[in-house]
Amino acid sequence: MTAVETATTNVGRDFIRDIIQSDLDAKRVSTVVTRFPPEPNGYLHIGHAKSICLNFGVAGEFGGRCHLRFDDTNPVKEEQEYIDAIERDVRWLGFDWGTHLYHASEYFEQIYAWAEHLILAGKAYVDDQSQDEIRATRGTLTEPGTDSPFRTRSVDENLDLFRRMRAGEFPNGARVLRAKIDMASGNINLRDPVIYRILHATHPRTGNAWCIYPSYDFAHGQSDAIEGITHSICTLEFEDHRPLYDWFIENLPVPSRPHQYEFARLNLTYTVLSKRVLTTLVRDKFVDGWDDPRMPTLAGLRRRGVPAEALREFAKRIGVAKANSVVDMAMFDFSVREVLNRVAERRMAVLAPLKIVIENYPEGSSEEIDAIDHPDHPEKTRKIRFGRELFVERDDFMEDPPKKFFRLSVGREVRLRWAYFVTCREVVKNEAGEVIELRCTYDPETRGGNAPDGRKVKATIHWVSAADAVDAEVRLYNPLFKSPAPNAGDFASDINPDSLEVLRGCKLEPSLLDVPVGTAVQFERQGYFCPDPDSRPGAPVFDRTIGLRDTWAKMQGGK
Ligand code: ATP
Ligand code: MG
Repeated sequence: MTAVETATTNVGRDFIRDIIQSDLDAKRVSTVVTRFPPEPNGYLHIGHAKSICLNFGVAGEFGGRCHLRFDDTNPVKEEQEYIDAIERDVRWLGFDWGTHLYHASEYFEQIYAWAEHLILAGKAYVDDQSQDEIRATRGTLTEPGTDSPFRTRSVDENLDLFRRMRAGEFPNGARVLRAKIDMASGNINLRDPVIYRILHATHPRTGNAWCIYPSYDFAHGQSDAIEGITHSICTLEFEDHRPLYDWFIENLPVPSRPHQYEFARLNLTYTVLSKRVLTTLVRDKFVDGWDDPRMPTLAGLRRRGVPAEALREFAKRIGVAKANSVVDMAMFDFSVREVLNRVAERRMAVLAPLKIVIENYPEGSSEEIDAIDHPDHPEKTRKIRFGRELFVERDDFMEDPPKKFFRLSVGREVRLRWAYFVTCREVVKNEAGEVIELRCTYDPETRGGNAPDGRKVKATIHWVSAADAVDAEVRLYNPLFKSPAPNAGDFASDINPDSLEVLRGCKLEPSLLDVPVGTAVQFERQGYFCPDPDSRPGAPVFDRTIGLRDTWAKMQGGK
């Protein structure tokens, strides 16, 4: 990984799109067919979103299609829950595979037949060595590997043993099938890779039909060929596997000739995208499930109120490159704020309430005031109630204000958003000396927030009427990791103890009860918030999607 990337890079063109364009121009390809091939062993995360946007994106732009293919070759780690979550998340992100939903497991019979094809051609053999022995004889980057003593088995014996592996005659690990390529190859992936292993395990789709399963390398390219994939786009760590990918395609009677291309995976500051670590975070309860709003999963981001459009915009903004880098989380946050600023309706909510009483407002009466839902659409308004008792934010009052503090303090006049000018007259304290209430007056001439005599105030603050405020729990999230480059090995020591802050007794304007789960609104002056599925009738819970500005970076000393 290299330097932190902050610049807005190319939007639109990249080397993958250039390759596709030239393949179309040269008529090497008539219809572009790509695939997104998740292994259903966890939930999708923001890194997968980059791959989904790329694969479905280019297919859409070039008039082709993109398949969703589950790479379900390891029944030990794969579950139906993950399959369902992946489909839901890809759809939510805004992409559609149409009728092209596939599973590598659908091809098991064909892939098996191709393994026999290799055996018959003298290009695969059954090896009785253990996994450890195979690893120990594979050689190193500088030294060649050593031939297995079983490498010279006859075709007949290989075929017989392989069929008996399939028939379930041997326990896990007793034997494997290896491609016979070159134990001295400079590329370790070509040193007789294991292509089938024995695994007595129930598969989510094929049940107990199989007790041998193909390796990723032996399943992936062949599945691409079966589906007529033209551009098999994967991340850089598979670059060294490409010669093997090509070797299988060249040595098997496959129905089409796909090509593999590699791009840089997404890495993000303050974030871990390793599925192994994400699984541990869930399993060991560092977080509250795969959709915990602190998780970088699509389910977590959705729950937090991040719009799918922000993820697509982010993917465009980071572009597609051939060199690994780390993207600054601030860039993602920027995409989220940019979309929400445009689409989120404005509401008022007081997170740390302080009561104010308007002494010259008639007792027992109230009035409705129009509030604009979004500054870009001033025609759309809602009614909010104004009355004698209101809540304002505790932070908007100071007893001994410094010079630059223009909000409430005794003798100071401010504007209540959409409503009136009010002046703080007196502070009420409890026995402990804490401020529990402000006594204020209002100027009835300033309805709507402007004074007819032209006098100005230096601050506008938000408020909620006490008579109909709704009590809510509000959850504030900060990055799950306190280090910009969390250690994926010992990640526990990098966990941010302040990643979740729960506020209770927050006061919301009642219209916030109507906001659907998953839709973010702006709490004026605070940030973007979204109803959490933990909400109960009359007891809403809101998640902070993101603050208005980057308060976290500021707390960390700025960037
Ligand atoms: P693993 O294979 O270790 O379980 P994975 O993250 O590679 O984890 P897959 O389900 O195999 O998970 O990934 C599906 C696709 O998403 C692959 O094509 C992979 O290259 C791509 N992908 C995964 N992580 C990222 C990432 N951080 N950035 C971009 N693409 C990614
Ligand atoms: Mg993978």
